[in-house]
Amino acid sequence: MKPLLGISGLRVRYRSGVSEVEALRGIDLSLGAGERVAVIGESGSGKSSLALAVAGLLPREATGEGIIRWPGLAEPPRNGKDVGFVFQDPGGTLDPVMSVGAQVAEVAEVNLGLSRRRAVALAVELFERVRLPGALLKSYPHQLSGGQRQRVGIAAAIAAGPALLIADEPTSALDTIVQAEIVRLIDRLVRETGMALLIVSHDIALAATVADRIVVLKDGAVVEAGETAEIVARPKADYTRALLAACLTLDGSAGVLEGRA
Ligand code: ADP
Ligand code: MG
Repeated sequence: MKPLLGISGLRVRYRSGVSEVEALRGIDLSLGAGERVAVIGESGSGKSSLALAVAGLLPREATGEGIIRWPGLAEPPRNGKDVGFVFQDPGGTLDPVMSVGAQVAEVAEVNLGLSRRRAVALAVELFERVRLPGALLKSYPHQLSGGQRQRVGIAAAIAAGPALLIADEPTSALDTIVQAEIVRLIDRLVRETGMALLIVSHDIALAATVADRIVVLKDGAVVEAGETAEIVARPKADYTRALLAACLTLDGSAGVLEGRA
């Protein structure tokens, strides 16, 4: 597989006043073009820091060290264009006073240099691709359900045809049935377009349904990484076993790989 992205020795620290948190302690990771990788780990393990660092979206209080290379791209990645980012809470990134259709069109206009008219036409097409009724193009974020807002977020993230889609806990703010729909949507879009996926989750079962490979993070370091089926069937680290056990107990079955077909 052609490499898209290579990360080596990535460290991220946050400074607030006199205290300092080391969120990532030397991460090595590569991602092939079209490959789907899930980063899992409990809250505070550094998943979002990794996702934000890859997207170049770390906040100002963060300092990063290490190397992120993009051998799969001709030029350094442009956010929104080469890398699409889906956030946990789509409400937080949408403008409350602009129609959702106009917001998706604006992303296309800015990143692809399209005329307003063509950007609007693309927004109509994107709404179809994320299975949102066209009638909702003129709606405002507060008029949509959480699942619909997340579909808008996904439409905006893929508007410019990125080589990599990063989704940071894209379903955590949604109820269970909607969660499954959003995961299926992301899975379908990634397969249709051939873009690579970096999906962040604390839920190993969810990760297993979409990822070729799983990377397990704990305290800012990789404790285990490998093929999804291998990690699920034969986890090496106690920490991975604990994450697996937690989700096995929750749904009461061993069907962690259900829905993978
Ligand atoms: P996760 O996404 O796995 O929950 P994060 O990457 O958000 O983990 O956080 C990793 C560590 O960095 C945590 O200890 C968290 O409290 C800290 N952290 C994250 N963002 C900030 C920030 N903006 N300022 C200070 N500390 C932060
Ligand atoms: Mg997070």
